[in-house]
Amino acid sequence: MHEPPSSTLQIADDATARSPARRLAQITIGMLLGLGVSAVLDLLDSDRTNIYVHGAAALALAGVLWALHTAQLRLASGLLLVTAVVAISLLVWQNAGLRDPAMLAYPGILVFASTMAGRRLFIAVLATILAFLGLVAAGNVQGWHINEVPVHSIANLVDVGVVLSITAFVVWLLARDLRSAVAELRAENARVHESRAHIEFLATHDPLTGLPNRLLARDRFAQATVQAQRDQSGVALLFLDLDDFKHINDSLGHPTGDELLRAVSHRLTSNLRAGDTVCRQGGDEFLILLVNVGHEDDIAEIGVKLLAQLTAPFVVDGHEISSSGSLGIALYPHDGSDFDELLKKADMAMYSAKSAGRNAMRYFDEGMNVGMQEHVQLVAGLRSALAQDELMLHFQPQFDLASGRIVGAEALLRWRHPKLGLVPPSRFIRVAEQSGLVVGIGAWVLREACRQMKVWHDLGLSDLVVCVNVSPVQFHRNGIELDITDALDASGLQARHLELELTESLLLQDSSAVSELLQRLRTLGVSLAIDDFGTGYSNLGYLKRFEVRRLKIDQSFIRRLPVDKHDEAIVRAIIQMANSLQLTTVAEGVESVEVLARLLDMGCTEGQGQHWSGALPADEFLGFVRRHRAAGWVPRLA
Ligand code: C2E
Ligand code: MG
Ligand code: MG
Repeated sequence: MHEPPSSTLQIADDATARSPARRLAQITIGMLLGLGVSAVLDLLDSDRTNIYVHGAAALALAGVLWALHTAQLRLASGLLLVTAVVAISLLVWQNAGLRDPAMLAYPGILVFASTMAGRRLFIAVLATILAFLGLVAAGNVQGWHINEVPVHSIANLVDVGVVLSITAFVVWLLARDLRSAVAELRAENARVHESRAHIEFLATHDPLTGLPNRLLARDRFAQATVQAQRDQSGVALLFLDLDDFKHINDSLGHPTGDELLRAVSHRLTSNLRAGDTVCRQGGDEFLILLVNVGHEDDIAEIGVKLLAQLTAPFVVDGHEISSSGSLGIALYPHDGSDFDELLKKADMAMYSAKSAGRNAMRYFDEGMNVGMQEHVQLVAGLRSALAQDELMLHFQPQFDLASGRIVGAEALLRWRHPKLGLVPPSRFIRVAEQSGLVVGIGAWVLREACRQMKVWHDLGLSDLVVCVNVSPVQFHRNGIELDITDALDASGLQARHLELELTESLLLQDSSAVSELLQRLRTLGVSLAIDDFGTGYSNLGYLKRFEVRRLKIDQSFIRRLPVDKHDEAIVRAIIQMANSLQLTTVAEGVESVEVLARLLDMGCTEGQGQHWSGALPADEFLGFVRRHRAAGWVPRLA
């Protein structure tokens, strides 16, 4: 059960105790008691002067209690006030006049009027009392109403005591209410202060990590630059973006992602000086403000330290997560003096660090600005490239090394840009991946490659396989399976004549969704190859698991095969391992007969490269294959 906090209960009780109705009831009962005592004293004294006043007042007070009982608060307080004024005035009138003990009740009545009634009523009561006292005084002075002043007696003392006690009781009750009201006001004031401070905190801090947000970072930056001008020093703005954070969120869930962000914030803050600021810019992005910096080397040292903090494993919700970040740095005053400008430049530098392979750090330089503009231009151009028919496929033949036979063609994307000319995929594939455009483009490549291969099959080249490069991004957006089946259905090409070239990174992600999808594609008959093998983790476990058919050895090892012993050892090891797993090896970038001889010697199965042909437009490819076949598929060793 949820219990309200005890302090709330206390306040509620106080409030009930101080409710106007209850107060009025207490005062009325106090007055009734006073009247009772006074009446008893009069009876004992056989004095009947006041009996009617006492009786009438008691009746009126009973009326007050009735009004309170029926929740007529205004009527009750008005009746009480009138009763008190009239009863006291009558007692004063018919007893000792201005010297009567009942006079002592007036201050109490005024205090009551001032707290329980409005200003006007208070003035009216005061004026009535003063007018009445004037009347009493006039009566006595002019002799038409003389009040006898009795000599002092015990009864006199009791009278005074009773009036004084009731007055004191009323004043005490009301003063106590006033004190409580003041205390409550103070508490309320403190609460308002507290909530204002909390609102201010929320406006300037990130609720997840408790770090300052960008608003506060801007403010701190302004302060830091003023200080830097005074000290002739600099300020560094670091833009940090976690690498592959989305993957962590997707695979381990958002709560774990949040926990990781908190752990990262903690590590970052605990590794900086007190004057430096770590802010969460949003998502997996952090801003770090280093104040009073001197040499660039000092900043680099801090940057390296921060990146190292990220690569050390985090244990979050029982998972050991290794992370990394990309860091961009912009400097005040060197790169600019405006916060937004520096932020943009630090962002560009971060972006460049990310493009350089992640877990890296870059200082901003003007070249990046140009690079960024070019990037924007490329994205804008790519958006319309498909619609404008600017994309096309070239095909590079692939050979069986032993027989010299052409076994397939790798489809390679080309972009004929209206202004930039022929743009190689090395320049635009990453841009297409980052912008997500690779999904639509990849679907087109699949359709076009299958369509073209089916045309060649129909022309008699029915043993060729078409190899299509697919980006990991295509796998992370659902739909690639449909793209593949659509491409096969639309072209009529059999699934076994399509091969997908996958990157190692895709398989290493160990996502169950990707494994299941690849399994389904295998069942369909589509074969899988690993592209650029040797440049990534070269993990063997997944080769068997995903039923990969071919390993494409990266051209960086192949090119220097005859001259570099180290590369030769790597290629030999890859081929041996692949053979033992019954995988076909494809050497990429075979440029010379020496390399080909060496590959044959090592037991490599297939190859592609300038030695035979580069990537060719579709019509040239057909001519190339026909000429090659006419020549009788002779191995090109001689
Ligand atoms: P990749 O899949 O490793 O393709 C082989 C690259 O090596 C091609 O470059 C090819 O033209 C080039 N090459 C072939 N033989 C030789 C040779 O003897 N010497 C040298 N120096 N190079 C050779 P390209 O066409 O510029 O493609 C570069 C990369 O772009 C490809 O590398 C692939 O990763 C990517 N790519 C190309 N087309 C597509 C596509 O349709 N989709 C996706 N996602 N990526 C593509
Ligand atoms: Mg490839
Ligand atoms: Mg390759």
